[in-house]
Amino acid sequence: MTLEDALKEGRSYLQGKNIEDCHIDAWYLLSYFFKISRADFYLHPNKMVTEIQIEGYRNLIRQRGQHIPLQHITGEQEFMGLSFKVSKDVLIPRQDTEILVQEALKYAQGKDVLDMCTGSGCILISLGKLGNIHSGLGVDISENALAIARENATTLDVNLQFMQSNLFENVQGKFDIIVSNPPYIPTADIMGLMEEVKNHEPIIALDGETDGLHFYRTIIKQLSTYLKPSGYVFFEIGHNQGEEVSQLLQEHDFHNIKIIKDLAGLDRVVSGQNC
Ligand code: GLN
Repeated sequence: MTLEDALKEGRSYLQGKNIEDCHIDAWYLLSYFFKISRADFYLHPNKMVTEIQIEGYRNLIRQRGQHIPLQHITGEQEFMGLSFKVSKDVLIPRQDTEILVQEALKYAQGKDVLDMCTGSGCILISLGKLGNIHSGLGVDISENALAIARENATTLDVNLQFMQSNLFENVQGKFDIIVSNPPYIPTADIMGLMEEVKNHEPIIALDGETDGLHFYRTIIKQLSTYLKPSGYVFFEIGHNQGEEVSQLLQEHDFHNIKIIKDLAGLDRVVSGQNC
């Protein structure tokens, strides 16, 4: 069998299992398993692969066929051009979240930053790598998530602190910038998510309680205690939560409130400045 045959087989297997991105995923797994680039493949599509190799590739394809997320099979996800380790204990970093990072980067230079619900650490670590910040603290309720975040910070060689805390419970001090991508999906909507998400990603990273706004309400109530005067907050939000989260910030005397759209044109980030 050739590399190209293997790819075709992988593709049609995934198609048969109704995997939405079957073409891309069959390719990613081929590239991951055989450690080849797109250019390698186009140069040598007829390279023969051994029966043992093809079984290894099939094993990955079968896992994907069971709707296990691609990133749980490869163990990694790229975010802001950096490679993050992921596991079932953390939300897989999403491209939409890069909008939050890009916005926060405009203000980050020399600042003390808190990342509330840090998960894999992708937001804080990106700010640490690219933002020339003064300090960074990542907080999460889950010790298992923090272990992944710490490992990512070490691998990516950036000096940040991580701490277990249920929201602000164990947090001390004041910060120039607070960033957060909290769980924001209304509980009743979780059932309707893709199998990859609802059966494999951590529910505590997704579930924003009845109306999805629980964490925004709770965090915003305490912001003035932990944000320096004129400090900034940046929230990722669901596409229909922009108005409500802006309203909550207004009620707590924030100004310069902005709603920023993602690449699909949907509301994705709300930011504001402390009084
Ligand atoms: N901060 C992490 C991310 O944006 C995790 C967010 C979460 O667990 N809700 O990917």
